[in-house]
Amino acid sequence: MPETFYDIHCHTMTFDHPNLIAFAYRACRALDQGAGESHNIFIQLRDSFRMLGELYDIKTHFKEYLEKLLYSGQQAGTDGGVLGSAKKVVNLIAFMEADIAGQLLYMERDLKEVAFSRQGCRETPVLTIGDHTYSQFVLTPLLIDFGDKGRACFNTHYSGINIKPIKTQTIAMLLGIRDYYRLTQWNLTNSHADQPATTTPLLRVYPFLGINPANYKDVDEINTVLNKYFPHGANTAQEITAAIQRFDGNLDQTTLPVFAGIKLYPPNGFDPWPKDNTDHKLDKTRCIYEFCCKHDIPITVHGSDGGFQTVDDDKVAILASAGKWEQVLNEFTTLRLNIAHFGHHQPAGQAESYDWMTTICKLIGEHPHVYTDFSFRGIEDCFRALHCAQQQDPSINLDAVKKKLLYGSDFMINLLQQQSYTEYTDNFITCQLPAVSAEDKHHMCSTLPEQFLWPVVKDGAFPALQSEETGAQALATQP
Ligand SMILES: [Zn+2]
Repeated sequence: MPETFYDIHCHTMTFDHPNLIAFAYRACRALDQGAGESHNIFIQLRDSFRMLGELYDIKTHFKEYLEKLLYSGQQAGTDGGVLGSAKKVVNLIAFMEADIAGQLLYMERDLKEVAFSRQGCRETPVLTIGDHTYSQFVLTPLLIDFGDKGRACFNTHYSGINIKPIKTQTIAMLLGIRDYYRLTQWNLTNSHADQPATTTPLLRVYPFLGINPANYKDVDEINTVLNKYFPHGANTAQEITAAIQRFDGNLDQTTLPVFAGIKLYPPNGFDPWPKDNTDHKLDKTRCIYEFCCKHDIPITVHGSDGGFQTVDDDKVAILASAGKWEQVLNEFTTLRLNIAHFGHHQPAGQAESYDWMTTICKLIGEHPHVYTDFSFRGIEDCFRALHCAQQQDPSINLDAVKKKLLYGSDFMINLLQQQSYTEYTDNFITCQLPAVSAEDKHHMCSTLPEQFLWPVVKDGAFPALQSEETGAQALATQP
């Protein structure tokens, strides 16, 4: 039986989706507080320009600098890291310029690169960890509800209307996955001449629906959305794949079983457990948990103080904290929940805090359906922090935690820290940590994500694709 490698936490989005001005605001706040907010493209660019200014007169050498930035290859070059920060930004922009089918092709290419570099042959790509060999690859890209109705904007002529509805993002993602299946099947990827002809898509993609209750009027509106995307409860891998392959760009259908789970995102103001019920806040949130418990649908929640943040730092420090979930889990004891990024928490200008991580460890001990992932930070940083947390709180049970720890990349957001998907994946496979055996890694990237995604139906997570002959022809002739 072929084994499956899961990346349980990644993103596919283009520049249409996030709010770049919010990032600029956030850069201002970080600079006000004197914090080195390296995960912000504006601050990375500033650092790069500042370093450049120390070496050159920017006014006279700007063109030279831009040329270096654009033409000098993938690495930081010979300027002692001067271009490093800016290169990362350009790399991220280059990735986000691709449409979503293109982004999936990039990720497929990168996974092949990892596989072929260790296989020594270029036939079927497989990844190997210990005794395990993975020939099937699953991604679960998480949609983020960037819809932010009524938020005050900036001092420009075109401000005030700043609605980024989840609808357009959903359509783009579903069409992107569908076209990825078609493109790979139809071998239209000749632009990468170094790759062998692709006739079988390497990936299966099971997206998560992003919901922010604040963008819905009442409980009924949320229930309508949930019932549309999960028409008879949790969708199987087969149902999702078939529905995505059939998707024609029209979301106005009564049922559309295209999602594997739900994504919640506190940096945009989502409160996991509102204190009061003004505007049905609590009711609207509760109905999501009720639905997910009833139908055994997994939820991934952003669980760090980084990210595409649109509310103040103080607010994020409350909303994204792991402690917020204690009350939810006390009531909804069967909720299957992944608190992502293992609670990475570093208040501005302060040392890293391990409180959120410790709370997640405690929740894992108390609730059998709670998981966490080390997306963005990577496995090495995760175990470094776990070691520190354990020194502060020796009751942390490492073995229990490892039974709930999922592999995730947070790609493409992690391009602010990494060169490529290849680099992140390769690092996970090759890194040697005393606390992590090959068998542990196998659980993180295969058995545990499978358990998190498909608790009932365990086999068939990698369905065959329908032939797309007519679809591919139509695609090739589209304007
Ligand atoms: Zn993420």
